[in-house]
Amino acid sequence: MTASPLAQLQEQTTDLLATVAAWQTLDELLEGEVFVTGKRSILSALQKSLGSLEPEARKGAGAQLQEARRSVEAAVAQKRAELESAARIVALEADRLDLGDVVSSAVRVPYSHGHPGIVAATQRELEDVFVGMGFRVADGPEVETDWYNFEALNIPPAHPSRGMWDTFYVELGDPETVVLRTHTSPTQIHLMEAAVASDSLPIHSVMPGRCYRRDTPDARHLAAFHQIEGLVVDRGITFADLAGVIDTFTKAYFGADMQSRLRPAFFPFTEPSAEFEITCTICRGEGCRTCSHTGWIELGGCGMLDPAVLAAVGIDGDEWSGFAFGFGIDRCAQMRHQIADMRALIENDVRFLRQLS
Ligand SMILES: [Zn+2]
Repeated sequence: MTASPLAQLQEQTTDLLATVAAWQTLDELLEGEVFVTGKRSILSALQKSLGSLEPEARKGAGAQLQEARRSVEAAVAQKRAELESAARIVALEADRLDLGDVVSSAVRVPYSHGHPGIVAATQRELEDVFVGMGFRVADGPEVETDWYNFEALNIPPAHPSRGMWDTFYVELGDPETVVLRTHTSPTQIHLMEAAVASDSLPIHSVMPGRCYRRDTPDARHLAAFHQIEGLVVDRGITFADLAGVIDTFTKAYFGADMQSRLRPAFFPFTEPSAEFEITCTICRGEGCRTCSHTGWIELGGCGMLDPAVLAAVGIDGDEWSGFAFGFGIDRCAQMRHQIADMRALIENDVRFLRQLS
């Protein structure tokens, strides 16, 4: 009787199971599988050798071999599941977003925080100064009727002084002409109307906001710009009060060593009217190119409210008097920060904006 080809099956199976158990990676499994259960495995070789057995013996040996194959295949399947699971964990680990890394790279490459633009920041500073002086801050529409922008301010249609404002017209004529406001002054009219309607005079307000003129932008002009305007209506207000407010503001905003002065001028809605000048912010009064060696630069306009303006809103000019003043916020920012060209304010060059942050 010849020895059964399966005489060593127990040991051979144990060896195969040990081989499977030793695989550490999916690659090892894929490479080794063919030698363990595949065509080049000992199990397949034994299967072929069974052909030489007597039919009776072949049957029993076949079942034995089948049993061995099942156990090895089960071990391979289990190993495959383990290694695939481990590989998935490794892949997930590699994909994981490490917030610690994000934070440390942010420290290495600083990102910039946003900050208010120079015009907005200047507007806030101006508001703060005027609030500190007892003014309230008021707001008004940027689209106005001709009446608010011109007529109520003593500028009738076809009046030559309309040439002072190159106006953007939104709608012409019938029944009303609508414009983009050329100054913040229409807000004065709204405030006075509201105060008359609610019987709440006096008024001490400043009105900051955007205005529009058909100016070709240059170093000192923008088509959309910002003004701040002040309005006082009270009993017994004189020109001395106006001069005092201008000078107090000048010192509070530009510095205690700064002076202000008024020079006669013409505006339709004030009488008398003045332009106000302050000590040159560049040379502090010594004289330089910016101030044409005068030591002074013009900031804005002001004057006592024209009785015709008070009459237009129904305020009794015998009982009440007042003054108004206004100047450019952009111009203020330009002078305070010594910006050579005002267009830099709207060009959004981040290098420029960062300098002023
Ligand atoms: Zn100067």
